Order: sequence, then structure tokens, then C-alpha cells
Amino acid sequence: MRDLLRSRRAAFGAALLVLAACHRAAPAPALLSTPTAGQLRADVAVLASPAFEGRGTGTAGNDSAAAFIAGRYTALRLASVAQPERVACAQGGVTGKAECFLLPFSASVPVRNAAPRSYRSQNVVALIPGRGALAGEYVILGAHFDHLGRDSSSARDPEKGRAIRPGADDNGSGTATVMEVARRLAKEPAGRSVIVVNFSGEELGLLGSTHFANNLPVAKEKVQAMVNLDMVGRLKNDKLIVYGVQTAAEMKAIVDSANVEPKLALAAIGDGEGPSDHAAFYRKDLPVLHLFTDLHDDYHTANDVAEKLNIDGMVRVADYTERVVRALADRPGRLTFQRVQTAASNRPSSRAGSGVYLGTVPDMAAGDVKGMPLSGVRPGSPAEQGGLKAGDIIIKFGTKAITSIYDYTDAMGAYKPDDVVEIVVKRGTAEVTVTVKLGRRG
Ligand SMILES: [Zn+2]
Repeated sequence: MRDLLRSRRAAFGAALLVLAACHRAAPAPALLSTPTAGQLRADVAVLASPAFEGRGTGTAGNDSAAAFIAGRYTALRLASVAQPERVACAQGGVTGKAECFLLPFSASVPVRNAAPRSYRSQNVVALIPGRGALAGEYVILGAHFDHLGRDSSSARDPEKGRAIRPGADDNGSGTATVMEVARRLAKEPAGRSVIVVNFSGEELGLLGSTHFANNLPVAKEKVQAMVNLDMVGRLKNDKLIVYGVQTAAEMKAIVDSANVEPKLALAAIGDGEGPSDHAAFYRKDLPVLHLFTDLHDDYHTANDVAEKLNIDGMVRVADYTERVVRALADRPGRLTFQRVQTAASNRPSSRAGSGVYLGTVPDMAAGDVKGMPLSGVRPGSPAEQGGLKAGDIIIKFGTKAITSIYDYTDAMGAYKPDDVVEIVVKRGTAEVTVTVKLGRRG
């Protein structure tokens, strides 16, 4: 009975997708025919415009940017993903309503020597139904659209005070390129369905992507991989950095075969962890890629403006991204996820002045928690060897009580590599003490 019911429900779901695909009115021809370079240039100019005031999370500028992106997905007649609080927004439905692409979330962020600050924002999410037998599986293509706004606290030019940091490259470029690839997939859908998602709250600690990865609109088992674009607007010497190539056994071959003439100079790096949104999905044991044209002097300053972007370079990244996404969406087989063993790296996560390395991954979206919550530990790290785990909350480090990430980094700073230290964590309802031998950074 249940199986019959289940097969009926599955058939209904598949029919819904087919229905969505066949009844999906075509997007306006003009929208589909604008040359890529022109579309990208126009979109980054809007995203980096003073009107959006640097798209700080929780600001009107950020909400306007979300509405702009949702407006595009509406015009492309993309489908929405299910929204429990909005019944009109059915999974695979094409409602023509922009709000069906806005997925609200709230999160709070620890503040040094003050109460945590809470934010309400939204991710923008749309679905491009696949075609054929693979349509019930998904590839996620994402890019964060938030930036610093007028907040100088993590700006590299704090002397400019409340000046707008327009974030044309970070991450207007990734947002515009995801919209461009969505436009192409709308015209020519792939085998697997593609979920395009623009995250907010990335600059505050992967807030939007962590929320989305924790509340996926589809079963995680149905997700083939996640492709993240963060800072793809400054291609120089053809160099494109690709993180995550070891997060699946088949990924390197996919990354290389998508690199056709005129070839990019790919710098392929294995790890799936890192200071951008793909890490939130990697922590869910999903294969990930992060495309990146590298840092530059204008990063996180008021000089990260649209005029400095390499639009022709962005066209090449869009072409490359489309080929990678189609390869992931059309290949018959599923990828084989791999957790990457990495040496001590210069990740900011557990940096301490003293060169000490532990290998914890703080959970920045854990909200108002006393202590330092972990979303994971690095494979092979002193933290893993000592027995720390994802979900642990560090409440004591040596003799120091830990109430926030700031206490934690301060405590770490008092130790040297090879020191042995007792760490007390909250694990569920229990308090557990582990002994860790600290490593050396770099
Ligand atoms: Zn970024």
C-alpha cells in the first residue's frame, strides 16, 4: 500500500515536473537574445550601483538586490522551490511571482564583548527543471550577492568610514554570472534539474548558505554537487582557481574536460573547505567546486567597482561554468564524494597569533550559543586526533572559560605548537574533556 502510494506520489511529482517543463511559458525573446557580455556588464553595474549601497545583509540595499535577482528569475519564467510558509509557491511551480524566489532566514552573529547581533535576510532560489530520467536529481549552482554595505568592520579601508563598498567583484561578478548561466539553462535545460541560489549573509560567516544547506528543499541524496562562484570578475593571465577538485573521485576529469579552447589556465586545488559558501555544502558531505579569479588590491574596499571588472573574462567564466554544470547535470552516473585530507592550511578559521594550529571549523551560523560551536574539524588535524567533533561546543580551553569565538582565539594565542592542552566541550547534554596536542600553522 505505502509503496503504491509512494510510487503514486513519485509519479505525481514527476508529472508535476513534466507539467512545469511543458507549461512553462517561454521567457521574453529579448531577454534570451541579449549578448552575454552586454548582459553581464548591465547586471554588475546594477548590483554594484550606489542604489544598492553595497548590499549589506539586513539592509534595504540587500533587499533591493534580492528583488532584482528574483525579478530576473521571474522574467526567465523559472520554477520555484517549495516554501512551507508560502503555499502558492509549489515545488516546480511557475507562478510568475517574484516572492516565490525569496527564501527568508534569520541568524545571529557573535559580537566581541557585546550581545550577539541578529539579522533577517533572504536567499534567492529558483529551479530549472531537468529533462528526462535524471530530472529528479539536482545540481546546485550558487553565488552570494551580499557584500559589506557601509560597514567598515571587515573592510580593508576602514579609514573610509561609512563609505559604500560596492563589491562589484565580490560578489556582483558571481551573482551576474549565475544569472547568466540560469538564462542559458532556461533556454536549453539540462538532464538533472538545476537549483540556482544567491545567498545572503556570506560576509558575516556563510549565514545564508549554511541555512540553505541545513534546510535543503530537496533530499540531500538527490543532490549531485554544488558549484559556487565567488569573485570571478578579475580574470588575469587566463588564470581561474578551482577549489574542490578532490571532493569527488570524478571531479578532476570533469573540471579538465570542460576546459576547451581557448583554454583557461586552471589552478585546481583539492580541498572543499574555505571562506566561501561551497564549504557549507561540503560540510554536508556533498561534492563542491568554487570558481575564483583570485584576490586583488581592491578586495573589500571602496575601489571594488564595476569599471575594474574584466567582462570578457567573465564571459569565459560563464562559458566554462555552463560546461561544468551541464557535465554534472547530464552525466549518467553519480559522483563519489570524498572528504579531503589536508595539511595545516592558512585558513582563517582557527588562526592564532602564536602560529598554533588546531583545525576546528567554527559554526558561524549557530546563533546565540555560549561557547564556541563547531560545524566540523579538519581531517587529520590535531582537533580530530584529540577527539573534537562537529556539533561540539567548546566551553573551556586550558584554564580559560570560552563564551565566544573571540575568547577562543584569545585562549589559543597563549599557547605554542606542541603544547598539550585540555579542552572541555558540551556534547549534547554531557560535558566532555579531551586532551589535544597543538599543531604548527603553515
Ligand atoms: Zn565573496
